Amino acid sequence: MGAMRLPDDIANAFSPLRAVRRDIHAHPELAFAEHRTGDLVADLLAQWDVEVHRGIGGTGLVGVVRGNRPGRVIGLRADMDALPIHEANQFPHRSVFPGRMHACGHDGHTAMLLGAAQSLSRNRNFAGTVVAIFQPAEEAGGGAKRMIDDGLFTRFPCDAVFAIHNWPGLPVGTFAIADGPAMASTSEFEIRIEGRGAHGAMPELGVDPVFVAIQIAQGLQGLITRVKRPIDPAVLSITMIHAGDATNVIPDVATICGTLRTFDEGVSDRIEAGMHRIAEATAQAHEARARVRFDRNYPATVNHPNEARFAARVAEELVGTNRVLFGVEPSMGAEDFAFLLRERPGAYILLGNGDGDHRAPEHGIGPCTLHNASYDFNDDLLPIGAAYWVRLAEAFLAA
Ligand SMILES: [Zn+2]
Ligand SMILES: [Zn+2]
Repeated sequence: MGAMRLPDDIANAFSPLRAVRRDIHAHPELAFAEHRTGDLVADLLAQWDVEVHRGIGGTGLVGVVRGNRPGRVIGLRADMDALPIHEANQFPHRSVFPGRMHACGHDGHTAMLLGAAQSLSRNRNFAGTVVAIFQPAEEAGGGAKRMIDDGLFTRFPCDAVFAIHNWPGLPVGTFAIADGPAMASTSEFEIRIEGRGAHGAMPELGVDPVFVAIQIAQGLQGLITRVKRPIDPAVLSITMIHAGDATNVIPDVATICGTLRTFDEGVSDRIEAGMHRIAEATAQAHEARARVRFDRNYPATVNHPNEARFAARVAEELVGTNRVLFGVEPSMGAEDFAFLLRERPGAYILLGNGDGDHRAPEHGIGPCTLHNASYDFNDDLLPIGAAYWVRLAEAFLAA
């Protein structure tokens, strides 16, 4: 890493931290079932004299490190959950649980925050408090929201919150940060079209829901170009159409399902309203009936400009200005850190995970990309992420 200088205690903690990361990797747990992971995190924090609070939002937990004098409060977030993917890697720290895998690097995020908590707890020469937030269920279920609803910010009143996500394809140790929208909102919809079944040869005796479903599916794409400003990004994908069981039978019902992603709640509102109009009126025009279910999942993850600039400055001091990309374009992926950013100012930064050359022998044949069965977190990020956390906390609390 050339010019980068890591604090000695973090550099020295590398191999135990790597062992922790690989232990978590080998024992992945799904949303709201992070029991072993939570035990492991809580035990380590307690060993390092960090105050531990468990059971916040189900399996969520918080570690509190108080400085040696009063001051502000900074929240640092890691996610702990894995994915329902069967790991293709065969290296020694592969998942021991069939069908479950740390394919998004949350094992690494947890280990990086542990490394920072250990270092901060050891020195404590700062004003204020560091709140290390270990959240459950980022991939599904909105663990961050559950922690907020369970009193996260009333019990631990953070002045700002920050998060790191590893990013495959970005060079190792390079940071990237958006100065506004970073990740999209996600909504899911289901449109149920109720017609009246008939013999395939006698459509005049029924109401064909398949024909109606096709008209609606076409009409929905018109929303993307007609009901919002062209400069507001949005993507609507119909990912499932289900109807019928036989070639000579017009079925009673057809369903259309899909996802909508935007960076603005107002845009989602307009598309949702348009979806109702198009589905209901199109069905009515053909004497069918449409029922629309539209569920908002995660809101857009929007970095606050001051905190994004602050996080970028801290990263620049750590790895050099040429390794920090500021103002990068957002991703259409989603992230439930969004809920924390709706409550408190803060910023979500990406940390390059490289192209996969780091993977141990016997990794799977797939690429080292997020949610791929051949992915593995790059352990070289552990000291970089931990050092970023420590410097971010110290700089924030010194300001
Ligand atoms: Zn993920
Ligand atoms: Zn993730």
